[in-house]
Amino acid sequence: MELLDLKGLGKKSLLNLNKLGIYTIDDLLMYYPYRYEVLKPNDLNTALQDEKVIVSGTVEIMPTLIRFRGNMNKMTFRIFTGDMIVKVAIYNRGFLKHNFEIGKDVTVIGKYDLKNNLIVASDIRFSRIEETKIEGVYSTTSGLSKKSILIYINEALKYVDNIIDYIPSYFSEKYKFMDKLSAIKIIHNPNNIDELKQAQIRLKYEELFIFMLKINFLKMQREKKENAKIIRNVNKEWILKKVDEFIKSLPFELTKDQKTAVDDIINDILSEKRMNRMIQGDVGSGKTIVGAIACFVNYLSGYMSAFMAPTEILARQHYDNFSNMFSKFGLNVEVLLGSTSKKDKKDIYDKLKNGEIDIIIGTHALIQDNVEYKNLGLVITDEQHRFGVNQRANLKNKGIMVDVLYMSATPIPRTYALTIYGDMDISNIKTRPSGRREIITDIRSNKEITDVLKLIKHELDNGHQTYIIAPLIDNEEEELNNVNLLYKKFQMAFDKYKVGILHGKLSNDEKDEVMNQFSLNKINILISTTVVEVGVDVSNATVIVIFEANRFGLSQLHQLRGRVGRSELQSYCILISDEVSKRLEVMTKTCDGFKISEEDFKLRGSGDLFGIRQSGDMKFKIADIKNDFKILLQTKEDVNYSIDKFDIINDYKYENILSSISQLD
Ligand code: ADP
Ligand code: MG
Repeated sequence: MELLDLKGLGKKSLLNLNKLGIYTIDDLLMYYPYRYEVLKPNDLNTALQDEKVIVSGTVEIMPTLIRFRGNMNKMTFRIFTGDMIVKVAIYNRGFLKHNFEIGKDVTVIGKYDLKNNLIVASDIRFSRIEETKIEGVYSTTSGLSKKSILIYINEALKYVDNIIDYIPSYFSEKYKFMDKLSAIKIIHNPNNIDELKQAQIRLKYEELFIFMLKINFLKMQREKKENAKIIRNVNKEWILKKVDEFIKSLPFELTKDQKTAVDDIINDILSEKRMNRMIQGDVGSGKTIVGAIACFVNYLSGYMSAFMAPTEILARQHYDNFSNMFSKFGLNVEVLLGSTSKKDKKDIYDKLKNGEIDIIIGTHALIQDNVEYKNLGLVITDEQHRFGVNQRANLKNKGIMVDVLYMSATPIPRTYALTIYGDMDISNIKTRPSGRREIITDIRSNKEITDVLKLIKHELDNGHQTYIIAPLIDNEEEELNNVNLLYKKFQMAFDKYKVGILHGKLSNDEKDEVMNQFSLNKINILISTTVVEVGVDVSNATVIVIFEANRFGLSQLHQLRGRVGRSELQSYCILISDEVSKRLEVMTKTCDGFKISEEDFKLRGSGDLFGIRQSGDMKFKIADIKNDFKILLQTKEDVNYSIDKFDIINDYKYENILSSISQLD
């Protein structure tokens, strides 16, 4: 059965459903409400002024419609509740007028104005609500009402009598779960809260069970002998000696955690098992150098490395940095960006195909279909949470059993990490390079800007540099500080200093030029959007001022702050905002990325935090990693048990799920 077979579902609705990602009857059934509304009818006799009420009655007087400018309208009518008559006003629902009939049942939901015996309604229904009712709320798209989604779902439910249940019966019985179809019916049409909870738990469990099964499967795949990787030159002693030389050539000593991460990586690369490792470390903890050493080990054992960064600015910076570090060791480092000229691209493609490059650094240009690699042995993705799963998959689909290293500054609590990255090994970099000082973070209102300017001046006079961040490049309507405006202001305020401007609308050459000038301290003040948010490393910068700070998310603010404090110099982060939000407060209290992420977690839920896998297999329909973490842990245990005892990996029922991800890792 297909969607178009459902009564009342036409081509137009089909297109709208498609927009919501609904293509099949199953998709439709599993399109769950994102929240529920409890509708409890009120007795108007006891309602208070401005109380939110739900009142049923019959239409007493047909509506009158008044139209205003700009397509606005107001409809007024009266209803009879059985013991009183009440006036109702509703805005911009004039199109409902033809539904009215005297004596017809109607329910109005809105705010009661006791003095005027008037309900200003936000919603009306042409049916009665006599007792407490729970209604699911569906997210939708224009042209498709929430009500029609439910109508289609219930239409589909009339025909469906069988739906694949992925929970092994052993556990369904153990936990006394209701059957899947009942759960789905209840999710859409709950009769009471208890029943709804039972249904939710049942469906969440299944979703998380499948998720943990995938993770386990990926891990097993990686450990299988026949998936063993490329054959390397593993003269470990010689490699260690070379790596040691390289580390000694650096202008600093590695921190303890950097050393551990390097050891982990060397062991992985030289082992028979494919590496699938995540380096987690806060902003400024020094992940790049660890990645660089990984490339070096890979080179020493005979292979090419690909190093992917999410932005061109960052890729450029890594390229300059790597070229510098590796020139004395004779490695050939190249960069490939979307903006690289056709001719240069072709040249690089040829070299990649012939294996003439040792380290290729770039953006997702590295994984375009026309790029062929001869002897790729290692793929690194920096700021991994910025990449979608598909992009990663693409690199791996180039058919090579390469080692993979991810680097991410989105530190997540260890227990979560261990579970959701169950198929990866994790190295944490917690110790910061020695001599680093805590970044002093403060909130200032727009009125206190003079203090901030003084601080900037003081730092500039000492030869240091400043970032100024604003959310927008330009803005017409709102009175917000934006990059163009601030550029003018700062040029006036600091006429002795060079002010630069950076944002996504500049051409790549212009961006390069600006970043280059800034890293050489030829630009002293850089006015920028969040394009500098990830990875940018100019250690002489000691101040970052973030205008309209309340417009940014917590993790984003933390990332931005990470642009300073990258040397032994005392650094400052000033958040400009007239209102003090919880987020801004958290920023002033801690510089610890793990704590920040915990707070972000509390404030926003896991959705954004786990952006990491969201674009792919982490997109849950009903479960939530944070709120349902207990269920997740249980499924982890149960999946292990099921693989052991019931051999579900080889059970045909799970074939679809598993084959769809086998290309992923
Ligand atoms: P992130 O982890 O945010 O990617 P980077 O790798 O960009 O951090 O490192 C931040 C800065 O710290 C860089 O300028 C880098 O050269 C420097 N750095 C890295 N490791 C050390 C160390 N062990 N001692 C001193 N400075 C270091
Ligand atoms: Mg980095």
